[in-house]
Amino acid sequence: MTAGAHRILLDPFLDEQPTAPVKAADVEADFILVSHGHFDHVADVASIANRTDATVVSNFEISQWFSTQHGVKNVVGMNLGGGVELPFGRVKLTLAHHSSTLPDGSNGGSPGGFLLELGDRRVYFACDTALFLDMKLIGNAGLDLAVLPIGDLYTMGVDDSIEAVRLLNPKRVLPAHYNTWPPIEQDAAGWAQRVRAHTSAEPVVLEPGKSTDI
Ligand SMILES: [Zn+2]
Repeated sequence: MTAGAHRILLDPFLDEQPTAPVKAADVEADFILVSHGHFDHVADVASIANRTDATVVSNFEISQWFSTQHGVKNVVGMNLGGGVELPFGRVKLTLAHHSSTLPDGSNGGSPGGFLLELGDRRVYFACDTALFLDMKLIGNAGLDLAVLPIGDLYTMGVDDSIEAVRLLNPKRVLPAHYNTWPPIEQDAAGWAQRVRAHTSAEPVVLEPGKSTDI
């Protein structure tokens, strides 16, 4: 994301990601948000942070792991329900129902999602999670965009993502965490049709490397 002059990454996974249009060495960042400890979310964080001096924002356990194990200089450690004012806006760490063990077996704390306030816009990244009823509370804030996993198997799938849209009631919704590998293949166009038919949100499907304004 870019917000004003600030460049913000979320769970960068590029070098070993078959659909990524860029490599970790190609991206610039001021902040890197990390939702949980799994390999496909933390793999490129340290290399990007150490090259760019970006600040890693995550739960306390993961921020400490990057600081003590990987020499990351700037970290912000949070916990669920807490928020922090950063130069680009407010970041709140929200619930997620998932797991979070780090690649070396270290305790990755509780998995989370992120609610971002960027100027007058509010964006919710559910990150890796099951459907949960408390999404209704997150939606109460009024969301310009929600980013939801649809891949199934490791996270909620298409059916539950439609229910999540109903609970969150965002203006627009963008699918994530699908088509990286065959086990999480999904038909994003079919998903978008269902969003249009069964919710009041506008679906936004992006090909890798493409962008949208909010
Ligand atoms: Zn995960």
